[in-house]
Amino acid sequence: MKIGVLALQGDFREHIRVLEDLGVEAAEVRLPHELDELKGLIIPGGESTAIGMLMQKYGMDRAIKEKFEKGMKIWGTCAGAILIAKEISGEKKDFSLGLMDISVRRNGYGRQLQSFEANLNVKCIGGFKGVFIRAPKIVKCGDNCDVLAEYQGSPVMVHEQNLLATTFHPELTKDAGIHQYFIDMVKDEISIEIS
Ligand code: GLN
Repeated sequence: MKIGVLALQGDFREHIRVLEDLGVEAAEVRLPHELDELKGLIIPGGESTAIGMLMQKYGMDRAIKEKFEKGMKIWGTCAGAILIAKEISGEKKDFSLGLMDISVRRNGYGRQLQSFEANLNVKCIGGFKGVFIRAPKIVKCGDNCDVLAEYQGSPVMVHEQNLLATTFHPELTKDAGIHQYFIDMVKDEISIEIS
């Protein structure tokens, strides 16, 4: 089982390191043919407009959507969560893949809270330190979304079928619990509860 990390911009190296520490084969992916063997793909944090622009330039947007339709699981962290969202509140979604039934507001925690840490309680995992860096805020979730963690009443981790979104950066903490969750999702060992 191989999991790829989109390596066009952002903190992809940290995700590769965590996956390898967990004994999973991990690969940096930049071009469509590199998606071939993948069962899962992580779209990392960074700058969503830059990642989105590069995805289009290399034909990765179409290739990712095609692989997703064939069952590849996708986890978007921070900028990655913006790129998989169906709606970006108040902005045109020029570069978005438009896959997950969530609406996000870029930099949604405002200036004072541009970057912060928060102790989260994540369903199925427990306590987890969330590192938020100019994080998007999830302002709406569809009926098929399972909210796995919240901060100040807003979802910060959401699972919908073959998609996972976190608005914080689990690759920047020592706890590999959320990477393990995604690995289990890729192995089809997790089912979600919709309330
Ligand atoms: N604010 C960035 C954006 O809008 C996301 C920041 C991040 O990924 N840490 O793309």
